[in-house]
Amino acid sequence: VLEGGCYCGAIRYVAGDRAYDRTNCHCSICRRVSGAPFVAWFTVAAGELRWLAGEPTTFRSSDHATRTFCARCGTPLTFRSTASPDDVDVTVGSLDHPERVAPEDETHVTSKVPWVQLDPALPKYPGRRTR
Ligand SMILES: [Zn+2]
Ligand SMILES: [Zn+2]
Repeated sequence: VLEGGCYCGAIRYVAGDRAYDRTNCHCSICRRVSGAPFVAWFTVAAGELRWLAGEPTTFRSSDHATRTFCARCGTPLTFRSTASPDDVDVTVGSLDHPERVAPEDETHVTSKVPWVQLDPALPKYPGRRTR
């Protein structure tokens, strides 16, 4: 089972056992929200994500999306889009075992910071994933 939480421990979650659409997102919103050059995400069915401790703070990050984070320590936790209401994206970096959820592709690569090296083995998308 996929389990994780924020840095300070105020928020803990379980996210089922099936992580799909695993990506490194290089979009400018992920970069600014996280303070990191890019963000690794995995997706689960929205009903699979349960908060075990605490409740994250939600904010609207664009006209079609909301994100959550820990109000105490700032760890970015989730992303939801009105375009796919049945899915929730969760940050790989907040997992207890991020090594088990390797990326499958790289998205929004046209927005990436020039000094970030993309993994040559992974499919790349200029914007969001298309298939
Ligand atoms: Zn926290
Ligand atoms: Zn992004």
